[in-house]
Amino acid sequence: MAKHLVIAGHGMQRNKTFDPGATGLITKGEHRYVSDDLFPAMKKFLPKNHNVVFFNKYKVSNYGDIVALAKQYNATQITEIHYDAASASASGGHVIIYSGYSPDKTDLALRDVIKRMVGVRYSHKGNEGISGRNNLFNVNQTANAGITYRLLELGFGTNKNDAKVLTENVEEYAKELIKVIAGSSNDKKANKQSGGTSTVKPSKPKVKPTTTNNASKANLTVDGKWGKSTTRALQKALNTPVDGIISKQPRNSVSQSLYGGTVQFGSGSSNVIVALQRKVGANADGKLGPATVRALQKYLGTVQDGVLSRPSLVVKEMQRRLNAGTF
Ligand SMILES: [Zn+2]
Repeated sequence: MAKHLVIAGHGMQRNKTFDPGATGLITKGEHRYVSDDLFPAMKKFLPKNHNVVFFNKYKVSNYGDIVALAKQYNATQITEIHYDAASASASGGHVIIYSGYSPDKTDLALRDVIKRMVGVRYSHKGNEGISGRNNLFNVNQTANAGITYRLLELGFGTNKNDAKVLTENVEEYAKELIKVIAGSSNDKKANKQSGGTSTVKPSKPKVKPTTTNNASKANLTVDGKWGKSTTRALQKALNTPVDGIISKQPRNSVSQSLYGGTVQFGSGSSNVIVALQRKVGANADGKLGPATVRALQKYLGTVQDGVLSRPSLVVKEMQRRLNAGTF
């Protein structure tokens, strides 16, 4: 029987470091939340003779073997599960599919579940709660191989209400997801607040990491000049390919204020800028501009004017934090 493979986002990487994913109010992070809380809850509601396989052994996008995994499990469909992180006010979830595609029935039904649970954001080809992407590894690999794939963002772990739904209503969320993914569920009742060990702390989400990541400490000159070495350090810290280049950028006041050929102009989006935007809570379009600088300034606690001077205070602070391994 053809299988539906369900993957927990993030996790153990090839180099044996663990990527917890976003944290926010759900302090255990995306990977452990999905593995330890959501998956067991989903398993509880599986109908008889289901076709669902769960996978959480490692970070699939880091191993780069999603197509091989699909073959191994005889999967014709893959659903990968995450939650988002940004500022406390951002809320709602969405379903990510390849930008060239329109959503299929399952994408839309999963979108409806997310909408009922936490609300939705974004839209793609006129479908609310769907986002089209072409710069995510698993999205592109599966699209090339002709395997049906979607990535669910179940809400924001940094938003009080979303985090509450994700943790206290994890069973209800899981049951609704299973109804779509498996086609039906058993008739067990979804309990409130019995879903594992996730806790929502009433405190403000921590944006700054509390632990130092030695592996990604940089050794930059703190001069406020964003050139190739700063880009390289940023790429290392954000776990994107390290080449010192920010590609496919629009010409604007910000992109033209960087140094030494680190920016390549063109249309499209840059992986490291998408990762940076996600980190600082900006719209993740992969294009560096004033809105991203303003979010970066907010994240780093410098004056928020959306301007990147030559040299720049916010770049200095970013370099300092990259050197300390606390960006
Ligand atoms: Zn994630």
